[in-house]
Amino acid sequence: EAESFCDIVREHARLQGSTTAFTYGDETISFAELNEGSNRVAHGLEALGVKKGERVSFLGKNHPLYFEALLGAAKIGAVMTPVNWRLAAPEVAYILADCEARVVFVGEGFADVLTKVRPDTPLVEQVIGIDAPDHAGTDYRTWRDGFPAIPVSANVGLDDDALQLYTSGTTGRPKGAVMTNRSILSSRNAADQDEMRKWQEPKEGDVTLLAMPCFHISGTGTGIGTMVAGTNSIVLPEYDPTKALDLIENYNISKIFLVPAAIQILLNHPRISEVDFSRLQYITYGASPIPLELMKQAMEVLGCGFVQMYGMTETSGTIVALDPEDHKPEGSPKMRSVGTPMPGVELKIIDQDGNELPVGTVGEIATRSSKNMSRYWNKPEATTETIDEDGWLRTGDAGYLDDDGYLYIHDRVKDMIISGGENVYPAEVENALYAHPKIADVAVIGIPSEKWGEEVKACVVLKAGEALSEAEIIAHAREHIAGYKCPKSVDFIEALPRNPSGKILRRELRAPYWEGKD
Ligand code: ATP
Ligand code: MG
Repeated sequence: EAESFCDIVREHARLQGSTTAFTYGDETISFAELNEGSNRVAHGLEALGVKKGERVSFLGKNHPLYFEALLGAAKIGAVMTPVNWRLAAPEVAYILADCEARVVFVGEGFADVLTKVRPDTPLVEQVIGIDAPDHAGTDYRTWRDGFPAIPVSANVGLDDDALQLYTSGTTGRPKGAVMTNRSILSSRNAADQDEMRKWQEPKEGDVTLLAMPCFHISGTGTGIGTMVAGTNSIVLPEYDPTKALDLIENYNISKIFLVPAAIQILLNHPRISEVDFSRLQYITYGASPIPLELMKQAMEVLGCGFVQMYGMTETSGTIVALDPEDHKPEGSPKMRSVGTPMPGVELKIIDQDGNELPVGTVGEIATRSSKNMSRYWNKPEATTETIDEDGWLRTGDAGYLDDDGYLYIHDRVKDMIISGGENVYPAEVENALYAHPKIADVAVIGIPSEKWGEEVKACVVLKAGEALSEAEIIAHAREHIAGYKCPKSVDFIEALPRNPSGKILRRELRAPYWEGKD
């Protein structure tokens, strides 16, 4: 029985060493090379004095050697903690200081940022450049190759920390979610319990396109998933719809995970109608709500299987999924849900005091499974607020379950607008507005109101060359949703602020209205 995902990769190296683990441009890395390379990294980190339980970090775009370094760290029980490269220098400094990394791997183009944050990250001792010509110090490949390829002897078990990812920072400062080997391996073990829901797990011969960022659970989760499955991941440094289409056409890409915003970009690509998608089995998608219209359009244009995933960093990724069979081109009521719990995952809806609510009632979603993180790093209070003694984790998301056990998400508990004593969920209003043919993008927020406490405001991005008045938008909303949910006012903006997973940063839109009032 495997005690860590490193054991499984070692087995792949032994039984099918020449199989490709990662493809990156013209370069391929086989399982044998990955295993040996990571052994060298493990020795190298040991030589730098890195101990079990210590965090090491990576700042850079997606790269297969990031996975080799992650694996090498995990082999001695050190914990890879990648940093979102889109963050500004002070935010990078915050995460590096928070995770206390002494060794940082840096990718091409980010040596400067690291130099800038050095005064605020006194713990950082060693920076190693992964194919980073802009980094003048230690080069990863040279460093790694100075150490032996033989296995390290370390005592690393299921309940040891294996990976630390920071949450996306949608609702506040990012928090480090600590995943153990058990949380990482449980997806695979759970999938074994249900043959029908194995679309997430690559099968022999599958090629996965890794296009989402590795600092997010979608990217690192995909890479660990293919390493564990023993299959090939084609790694893109960052999402690029032209390259994605090219790879879909010219390689046998069978699986991709994309956030809804990335699907939207793909559908708007000028070449979209010329590309043959017949070899693509599944697009899995999630991380933010998807408008129903977008889902239907994607099904029509791409014609492959679709699986929606709901999960979070704190649950090592997917805990609920909407199966391909529930995706109907003509739409279906279940398509408004995020699906049913994955094997081994428990869900319940609770009120503020933690009492379970009946079917059909909106409350906070709580979940329990071995995929739950063990804790937030260095945040004992936040951990106790989030996970109770029985292991139930509060997601911070509002939602309800239907009679068939399907979960419907109604936004963040924090984003809920209380207007005149009624609860309004932004996503419902956004969906109604998004259905308007002249609206390209929309976000709904609550702003202070003397009369209602809060009132609904829509921030609308119009499609290029279109015109629409505030009154027309409000009238359109009124045709679809109750009066108290309709926006009272509309701001027209150029683009919505989003984070890299495509999540709308409502707090940025709210900020100017709540200054001094929150
Ligand atoms: P932070 O916790 O720092 O505010 P975050 O919650 O956005 O950031 P992640 O862990 O990346 O960080 O995202 C998890 C959240 O993404 C979930 O709590 C949920 O709100 C949202 N989400 C994930 N999947 C879906 C989905 N399929 N539909 C709607 N929302 C989703
Ligand atoms: Mg969160």
